[in-house]
Amino acid sequence: MRYISTRGTAPVLTFSEAMMTGLARDGGLYVPETVPQFTPDEIAALAGQSYEEVAYRVMRPFCGESFSEEELRGAIARAYAGFGHAARAPMVQLAPNHFLLELFHGPTLAFKDFAMQVIGQLFQIALARDGKKITIVGATSGDTGSAAIEAFRGLDNVDVFILFPHGRVSEVQRRQMTTPSEVNVHALALEGDFDDCQGKLKDMFNDFTFRDEVGLAGVNSINFARVLAQIVYYFTAAVALGAPHRKISFTVPTGNFGDIFAGFLAKEMGLPVERLVIATNQNDILDRCIKQGAYAKRGVKPSISPSMDIEVSSNFERALFWAYGKDGAAITALMGELSEAGSFTVSENAMAALLQNYDSGSVDEAGTSGVIARTLAETGELICPHTAVGVGVAEAALARQPEVPMVTLSTAHPAKFPDAVEAATGIRPPLPPRMADLFDRPERVTRVPNDLAALETLIRERRRK
Ligand SMILES: *Cc1c(COP(=O)(O)O)cnc(C)c1O
Repeated sequence: MRYISTRGTAPVLTFSEAMMTGLARDGGLYVPETVPQFTPDEIAALAGQSYEEVAYRVMRPFCGESFSEEELRGAIARAYAGFGHAARAPMVQLAPNHFLLELFHGPTLAFKDFAMQVIGQLFQIALARDGKKITIVGATSGDTGSAAIEAFRGLDNVDVFILFPHGRVSEVQRRQMTTPSEVNVHALALEGDFDDCQGKLKDMFNDFTFRDEVGLAGVNSINFARVLAQIVYYFTAAVALGAPHRKISFTVPTGNFGDIFAGFLAKEMGLPVERLVIATNQNDILDRCIKQGAYAKRGVKPSISPSMDIEVSSNFERALFWAYGKDGAAITALMGELSEAGSFTVSENAMAALLQNYDSGSVDEAGTSGVIARTLAETGELICPHTAVGVGVAEAALARQPEVPMVTLSTAHPAKFPDAVEAATGIRPPLPPRMADLFDRPERVTRVPNDLAALETLIRERRRK
């Protein structure tokens, strides 16, 4: 299996090379050259299997020769052993034909654990093999950072630096990043928003001298291995609801487009997915793009669903790559326009291709609180604000197509966003017992300016040589 860049000019890599590389050297994102296909019989055979078994069968064909069967099975088993639910990704029903896929039973209470725990294991295998040291730098709107720290804390050959937007993450999110005491963990509060954090990360990757000197590796959802591990729960959910004999739709609370793009790949592999519904909060750039055909920045407004406060939705580039018939030159031109003019127009053909797979909607702040309150009243379920955005958008999509079962991805545990949940319902959701002392642990964090040179200096000094 070969991996190519969405911008068409970076070297072609194997799976493990693409995983260790992160951002391609032409500024693009790695994608598999061809998507492995599952027959209806192979999909039917996933019914009743453990999450780990489905994960192995779905991930194996993407990995080529990079990992042996034993290595991949071992990595998957260790990745999910610490989850707080035997089903890993259980479902509950909200209404006739509407289901919630709970993706928050991992160690940091958000869906990011599903992929980060696996790539933590795969990185360890690959690093042990070639005796290398690496520096992981990640940008986070809140949940990627804690998931990455949890996956890499304490490892000898990895230093992990996480950039988060100062003052724009919830207290639980911040504490999950600032309280781990291992010397290889560095939480950096950047003066800016998430797009600034992600922009600085991309600048570091494009500074080849720095990149090679520190052995820079990325675990943001620009890393294809992240996207890969997220394909699995689309299969487990769809099969539980009757796939391959029945079509299923999914609504995905979306920011950087990694999670929903995994759903697109599941569909490309042969899973009968009817619609992939992009759910956005008041930062609705993707919803506007799907409805109006133009991707146009207007500035990010902080919301009560902070993990979705994003305007430069990195993985949308992967979706565009497919919509443009895998034309790397066309993608390079679009991304150039975006960084120069802050917007681009999607061609008519590409728009038609996007609309074959995606639908969209957005929910504003008051709407989000309303959905949290109403869901509690109607079902007894307490949901996080990101999930609430998904549920609100899913209800509208379900009304348009009531005969197709809708699965909404529940991306975080409500206790990760207790202020928003309490404001909506009067109930303050408690942390699970294993994290109950989070508010007592000492914090360690460095405030950093939105400045590339300063960041690179800090990383050079702090990383262990
Ligand atoms: C990261 C995150 C999202 C957005 O996922 P993307 O893959 O970036 O689109 C939504 N909800 C929560 C809770 C998250 O942590």
